[in-house]
Amino acid sequence: MLTNSIRTSNLAIDLLADSPASTYKKNNVVVVATGGTIAGAGASSTNSASYTAAKIPVDALIDAIPQVQDLANIRWVQALQIASESMTDKELINLARQVNDLAKRSDVNGIVVTHGTDTMEETAFFLSLVIRSDKPIVLVGSMRPGTALSADGPLNLYSAVALASSDTAKGKGVLVMMNDTIFAARDVSKIINIHTNAFVSQWGALGTIVEGKPYWFRESTKRHNSSSEFNIESIEGDSLPLVGIVYGANNMLPQSYLVLQQAGAKAIIHAGTGNGSVADYIVPTLNKLQSEGVQIIRSSHVPQGFVIRNAEQPDDTYGWVVAHDLNPQKTRLLTALALTKTTDAKEIQRMFYEY
Ligand code: ASP
Repeated sequence: MLTNSIRTSNLAIDLLADSPASTYKKNNVVVVATGGTIAGAGASSTNSASYTAAKIPVDALIDAIPQVQDLANIRWVQALQIASESMTDKELINLARQVNDLAKRSDVNGIVVTHGTDTMEETAFFLSLVIRSDKPIVLVGSMRPGTALSADGPLNLYSAVALASSDTAKGKGVLVMMNDTIFAARDVSKIINIHTNAFVSQWGALGTIVEGKPYWFRESTKRHNSSSEFNIESIEGDSLPLVGIVYGANNMLPQSYLVLQQAGAKAIIHAGTGNGSVADYIVPTLNKLQSEGVQIIRSSHVPQGFVIRNAEQPDDTYGWVVAHDLNPQKTRLLTALALTKTTDAKEIQRMFYEY
């Protein structure tokens, strides 16, 4: 039974004011629920792939694993109840503000964000860029709904609470906890949509969890959280500069880029082939856009490796930026945040090498 069980509303968090961390041996962890498959439900137990995401409220998810009460003092907030493919910058910014407010509280030691797996890597990366805190912030989801045979959500959530309540996770940046594995937000990517081992990092995981105990093997060398120059507190409103993505393949259309400019894009991510390559017949379009103030960022649709500057494309001559090893969707987020500070391509390039 939950000793401090509270209802699933934002008001619930106010109750934390009565329970300072110092009065508990266990750490205080807040679960911020946003929906996804971890909160999904299917028609039968054999429906592991056909189901509706974002159905089960957070209190039911936590009630299903009473073992988490041994790990930490748990509170929760139902921030959103959506499938993560429906996240927009508005939800992302508001979620970041909510997590930031929690991270600043002296009675919160760690935060778990339950999230759909489709865009979990994007939310995790964004939070790692804009929340200046050393406290563990752990994103978790599942590949099977809770109604399925061998649902992966309960153990993933148990492990995420264990991680968020562990002092060893402090200062490690925003983490993704999936399938017993601990990933750094910037490196992790969903690479398969039908298996439980859906997430990988080309540079390796940070560690693993066994029976609620984290074991660490690596650390991220990139700037994040407390060492970030971005801050959710300096973002005004609930939108980011518009940044579009164009997927590279044979037979590209210049109009794919021009329509984004017409929509108001301040930058375009070219998710190119190979080394973020640009077809010779597309180069004039990108240079025209660049001269009209639309930043061109070369990323790659190849899942591993990184885009090398001035290799096949003369980026210095064109004034383009390369995304280094960030995939197109993470490149969009860093570009949007960069544009809140500068439009200088050299400065944006610096950020891509530092984050
Ligand atoms: N479409 C779902 C979502 O991202 C998939 C999942 O959670 O695994 O919300």
